[in-house]
Amino acid sequence: MKREGIIFVISSPSGGGKTTICRIILKESPELSYSISVTSRCPRLGEEDGKDYFFISKEEFDKKIGKGEFAEWAEVHGHRYGTPRNSLEEALRSGRDIILDIDVKGALKIKERYKGSCLIFLLPPSLETLAARLKKRKTDDEKDIEKRLAKAKEEMAFLKEYDYAVVNQNLSKAVEEVRAIITAERCRVRRMVK
Ligand code: 5GP
Repeated sequence: MKREGIIFVISSPSGGGKTTICRIILKESPELSYSISVTSRCPRLGEEDGKDYFFISKEEFDKKIGKGEFAEWAEVHGHRYGTPRNSLEEALRSGRDIILDIDVKGALKIKERYKGSCLIFLLPPSLETLAARLKKRKTDDEKDIEKRLAKAKEEMAFLKEYDYAVVNQNLSKAVEEVRAIITAERCRVRRMVK
């Protein structure tokens, strides 16, 4: 039975663990694609262009907005991030499921535009745990961490718009839950019968 690809959006406040969880799931599921976003922010240490993100200037980003090249885009922490439309729609057409690691504003735009998308929210066990994780990560300075924590509180207010919530208290349990959600969504009758 042939069906369209499914969009799985995974959002969480930064430090919520989504990058780690996405990596584990993608490694064990070669049939799942990952949508590489375009961003106007600078690469962090260890990040690769074309693998983690496509890093471009703000001017180039704005040109792409004008040309309608994004399925959605949003400004997050003062930088622009967008999901390339062509590769996303190509995956859907060819029946390949695809994971998007994007923020809450982007997630809602995706849900609006692609009705069958599945939105998963990864929650930290508490805001204290989140603060500790961000400090341990050592990629952001003190001011940046404060900004990210304030943003986390705002983002959590969007939880009710999501289809699923997974609390990332224990990594392997959280991975197992995301895996279970993906499996269940693939079995939905409405995706198979048109
Ligand atoms: P970071 O700079 O830490 O990699 O990402 C910051 C935030 O931007 C994260 O919440 C991440 O999910 C979000 N993000 C990454 N790519 C996209 C995108 O293409 N669109 C939107 N709306 N958000 C994105």
